[in-house]
Amino acid sequence: MAAQSREELVFAPLGGVGEIGMNLSIYGLGSERTKSWIAVDLGVAFAGDDLPGIDVIMPDIRYLIEERRNLVGLVLTHAHEDHFGAILDLWPQLGVPIYATPFTAALLEAKRASEPGAPEIPVTVVPLGGRFTLGPFDIELVSVAHSIPESNGLIIRTRLGTVLHTGDWKLDPTPILGPPTDEKKLRALGDAGCLALIGDSTNAFRDGRSPSERDVAKALTELVRTAPRRVAVTTFASNVARLRAVADAARAADREIVVVGRAMERIVQVARETGYFDDVQDFRSIEAYGYLPPDKVIALCTGSQGEPRAALARIAEDQHPDVTLSKGDRVIFSSRTIPGNERPVARIINGLVRQGIEVITDRTHLVHVSGHPRRGEMQDLYGWVKPQIVVPVHGEALHLAEHAALARTLGIAQAIVCGNGDMIRLAPGPAEIVDEVPQGRCYRDGKLVVDAEARTVADRRRLGYVGVVSVALALNQAGVLVGEPEVDLIGVPEVDAEGANIGSIAYDAVVDTLEQLPRARRRDPTSVEEALKRAVRAAVAAHWGKKPLCLVHVLTV
Ligand SMILES: [Zn+2]
Ligand SMILES: [Zn+2]
Repeated sequence: MAAQSREELVFAPLGGVGEIGMNLSIYGLGSERTKSWIAVDLGVAFAGDDLPGIDVIMPDIRYLIEERRNLVGLVLTHAHEDHFGAILDLWPQLGVPIYATPFTAALLEAKRASEPGAPEIPVTVVPLGGRFTLGPFDIELVSVAHSIPESNGLIIRTRLGTVLHTGDWKLDPTPILGPPTDEKKLRALGDAGCLALIGDSTNAFRDGRSPSERDVAKALTELVRTAPRRVAVTTFASNVARLRAVADAARAADREIVVVGRAMERIVQVARETGYFDDVQDFRSIEAYGYLPPDKVIALCTGSQGEPRAALARIAEDQHPDVTLSKGDRVIFSSRTIPGNERPVARIINGLVRQGIEVITDRTHLVHVSGHPRRGEMQDLYGWVKPQIVVPVHGEALHLAEHAALARTLGIAQAIVCGNGDMIRLAPGPAEIVDEVPQGRCYRDGKLVVDAEARTVADRRRLGYVGVVSVALALNQAGVLVGEPEVDLIGVPEVDAEGANIGSIAYDAVVDTLEQLPRARRRDPTSVEEALKRAVRAAVAAHWGKKPLCLVHVLTV
């Protein structure tokens, strides 16, 4: 009886643990059966070539939909896509109040406005460092340095203890824009007592400390100053501090900034609206690029990840209507190549180099720093906060394990590695995984959100490997062929090694199989379809060495 009614505080990740991206965490307080929940972040991950036609992957929110009545709020830590990119698609199923700081709210609104048909989403704007109550949770924001304005950690106070959800953070005493990580508040949290820290594992295997945004700004200033001709800088559009550093470098070198790419324009607009660019010079319209002298301009471009439709790829292929580069110009990748994007990025870099354009990356110059803490920074934070429990999140298995090992060497009593869907009871008693909640993933496919378990993408992948043979024919009531069967190949070679036409091979297989089918079976379209499918795939495989998909349409006339 007592166990049934005993109150407990739990944490469960529904995305972002054991994988990169699509962060979604929930915290629950209540009895074993009924709890009030808050959700933190609702992000996407970007799909690779293994998911043809899919742009983004999102967490499956089935569990939150079930628990919707008990879900009291969704708090956003910051406006990176891996933390807020799924809101437009998934929020309508939850209808839960959203809480965010001004920049995050403004960027969400700008995104919504740029997507026709996107839902109206009410957001409660919370000031930096603000404190508010959601059901039994008392939530206070802690400003943390990161690579986008207004990244927040959350101090979540409950009757059973206080949790620090770090969000994405680093320690940068000179972040250029916005406040540094609020050490004072974090030390005070440690003094008052912190039960658990749920923390960023991204750079858990890197020793030392991340360099500061200020160091990057210095390097950029020097590279712009010494550039003989045009300069193009590409970076993550959301890194407003970096955009500002480029603007400052431009001003110092008496150059004008031209912004190229929609995502970049949107961020610049939001940065101006929210006051982050109050003392930044006006940028020039893209039309100005053509008539500004080469040593008087900087193109600030999207496309640092090699995205084929983004500004830099189009410029590199000389297909941009307004912006061109030529021999002697300098392109600076003020970015890191996200794993999986190496090939498209290398393609762009090689294309530029072949044209005699100088390319500068973080391999040789300090033109980028990570927004995540290295081990030295984690050591500092854990020293301030002194949590009893550490739960590594925001990383793949390797990062989580490394983070947990580090926490243990720092004397943290419990470090718990978990996976998506694991429910950890943080209090009362020792922290442990006590339950599992439904979790998974879904895809954005065109305008639709589809279940990752659905066959569509698997079919698409198969289609990509083996192509399809399409067969159409008409049979009369007696099962006799009417007219000629129609055979089409898509993605199947036209001829075999001997030069035989594969379309004809498939055609012959259709006709021969029909002739051999007993009359009774010929009157059953399903049975005909099955027999033809088998015969066509086998006949083509004998000549090709691969079995295509086969679609058979039997029309009864
Ligand atoms: Zn982030
Ligand atoms: Zn993140």
